Amino acid sequence: MKQGSIIVFSAPSGAGKTTLLDHIRRTVPGLVYSISATTRPPRPNEVDGRHYFFLSEQEFHRKIEGDEFAEWQAVHGHLYGTPRYFVDRTIESGKHLVMDIDVYGKKMFDRHYPQASGILILPPSMDELTRRLRNRGTESEESIGVRLANAKKEIAFAQTEGKYEYTLVNDDLERAKAEVESVVHEIIDS
Ligand code: ADP
Ligand code: 5GP
Repeated sequence: MKQGSIIVFSAPSGAGKTTLLDHIRRTVPGLVYSISATTRPPRPNEVDGRHYFFLSEQEFHRKIEGDEFAEWQAVHGHLYGTPRYFVDRTIESGKHLVMDIDVYGKKMFDRHYPQASGILILPPSMDELTRRLRNRGTESEESIGVRLANAKKEIAFAQTEGKYEYTLVNDDLERAKAEVESVVHEIIDS
């Protein structure tokens, strides 16, 4: 059986990746979403096992030692990782897998899964990124500051050392939704 495709989305926090992923979840049938593990505390709307597997630091480290992650990284002061068994099981069954990984984790992931297609989502400007993070209302001012400082480094890293076949600027939301939908179809229909 032909293996399924792997589509990795990366973006600085606040660029609109969750919004665009929600859109393709609704409009492109048959995609499977990888659920990451994290030590970050859940946000009010988040459900364990659906948005993330929320783990203690100790549980997370036990999984690193057991080589259970396809990649893992510290992002904005918390640990995030992709369970390896789920990636393998999904693509081996011929299904297409969609993932959300930060730019450094994507680099580590590529070593094991060089066939993965990367989609980098960028904000139209740093001012607009700041506005979106504030308007979302999920982060403290301190956390927003950390995310903005990291955003510049992440974008620079992605554009020099990353492997992203597609770069998409999330300016007008309806336009960006149409573009992301068309790119995902291009990958899974190839
Ligand atoms: P991420 O998952 O990349 O951190 P989100 O999808 O949570 O980002 O988006 C951050 C905030 O910006 C949310 O409040 C979202 O509704 C808003 N947003 C997303 N895309 C756009 C856009 N094109 N124009 C204006 N606001 C947007
Ligand atoms: P958030 O805390 O806003 O949900 O996510 C913060 C960052 O963690 C985002 O940049 C997101 O892409 C990244 N992230 C989420 N899951 C994973 C993962 O499994 N691995 C890595 N490396 N990064 C992840």
